[in-house]
Amino acid sequence: MVNKTPRVVIIGAGMAGLTAACKLYTSPNSNQLFELSIVEGGDRIGGRINSSEFCGDKIELEGGLELNPSLVEPISRLFKNLLNYIQGKPIVEDGSISEIVKHCGPGNLSVGSFLREGLEAYWGFMKDEKGIKRVGNWSMKSLEEAIFTMHENTHRSYSSADDLSTLDFNAEREYKMLPGEEITIAKGYLSVIEPVKLHFSDGSILSADHVIVTVSLGVLKRGIIQDHEMFDPPLPSIKNRSISRLGYGLVNKVFLQLPQETDGVSNFKFPFLQMVFHQPNSEFRDPKVPHWIRRTSLLYPIYSNSRVVLSWVAGSDALQLESLSDDEIINGFSITASNMLPSKFYCQMNPNQTSCHQNQKQLKFDKVLRTEWGTNPLFLGSYSYVAVGSSEDDMDVLAEPLPQNSNNIDGSSPQLQILFAGEATHRTHYSTTHGAYFSGLREANRLLKHYNCAGV
Ligand SMILES: Cc1cc2nc3c(=O)[nH]c(=O)nc-3n(C[C@H](O)[C@H](O)[C@H](O)COP(=O)(O)OP(=O)(O)OC[C@H]3O[C@@H](n4cnc5c(N)ncnc54)[C@H](O)[C@@H]3O)c2cc1C
Repeated sequence: MVNKTPRVVIIGAGMAGLTAACKLYTSPNSNQLFELSIVEGGDRIGGRINSSEFCGDKIELEGGLELNPSLVEPISRLFKNLLNYIQGKPIVEDGSISEIVKHCGPGNLSVGSFLREGLEAYWGFMKDEKGIKRVGNWSMKSLEEAIFTMHENTHRSYSSADDLSTLDFNAEREYKMLPGEEITIAKGYLSVIEPVKLHFSDGSILSADHVIVTVSLGVLKRGIIQDHEMFDPPLPSIKNRSISRLGYGLVNKVFLQLPQETDGVSNFKFPFLQMVFHQPNSEFRDPKVPHWIRRTSLLYPIYSNSRVVLSWVAGSDALQLESLSDDEIINGFSITASNMLPSKFYCQMNPNQTSCHQNQKQLKFDKVLRTEWGTNPLFLGSYSYVAVGSSEDDMDVLAEPLPQNSNNIDGSSPQLQILFAGEATHRTHYSTTHGAYFSGLREANRLLKHYNCAGV
């Protein structure tokens, strides 16, 4: 009898797939243990890690009003405290916050509903002070709501949830951030006794003993719906239910290039803009600012003095962004930034002018580069989140290898035929590069342990 070397195929050369491959490849004697291949649908490796080339902490309001920090801090502190409470972090006591949190109480299903209850409770506590005060054409309450919304919009980008009312309240507490700063840089499975067959678009077929599937949750979601079946026989229904329940959102980055030198001067420093917009029913809303920008919160240089500024667009707005022309995006951001930037920045941009008036403000970006994670069939979104109605347990279910319960000691049934890695399979670090990394290690180690390999 010939003892053949098991063939391991990894689907996807993103962080999870490359990590699993590296771990298996670098394990002692691995070349005698496995025949290892990695298959990638795209024309580059890295998956959702993609670098491309492209040529002051301020809050600004629609209409170019720069806010005094004393107006911004209380409502920003409220938002931070409410989020800290949800995430199980210490809250900074400032008199009313414990009462506000108590008032919101347990029973909240979503992050969004908790935050909004917190805001209402805050207004309840502060009602005497809010009514009459105005800032420009803003009532104090509408201003606070707009700043609160801006912070919510920032959290939509972090979580990738289109609406925070779909983001599970309890899961937010279990989610773990790594310490330190962020840097840029199937019914039928038990009966399957044949090797797994991979079918390629050119009609070729590859058989494998073990397949590590690392495709995104978005690709899996599409792969389990009728007419797009990715698995034959289909995945077990428990896995399909978890795939369907979990949230998978969309966040796109937009890079914009500032105009070249103006009148020979190139020392324009674009500020870190936190953008606050009027509510949809406000008479002060500027109709020229497109609606797909109104739920973004940030526009900032990618590093100090850079001519490239970055914004994050989340959810349905991010999908719409992918359908727009470059000119539409440039115009939308140019109008918005022109509205927001106070006159002094135009003076900085064009110091030869004798006076810098609000009505002379006009900034036109030169170029745009946007990501298109939503429509790219290899990703179909950006990263996962725990949606209301799902839990981290769904991520554990997704991570379980197939076939289920194949623990015959005599080895008569196939084991670990299909393994699952990828950010959406990590219970506490989902949505991240390191979550994908840990999941790749986990599945490589599962195989190494299965073959009693040292160095697991
Ligand atoms: C806009 C954005 C910002 C982000 N910001 C951060 C951040 O600040 N910090 C952080 O830690 N993480 C961030 N992430 C998340 C991080 O990039 C991902 O969690 C991580 O890269 C996912 O890796 P993965 O290996 O799980 O999946 P992927 O990178 O998606 O790898 C899967 C691979 O499978 C391939 N594939 C798909 N279908 C097939 C098929 N049928 N056949 C063959 N191959 C296929 C894909 O092409 C892809 O290469 C961000 C993601 C996005 C989109």
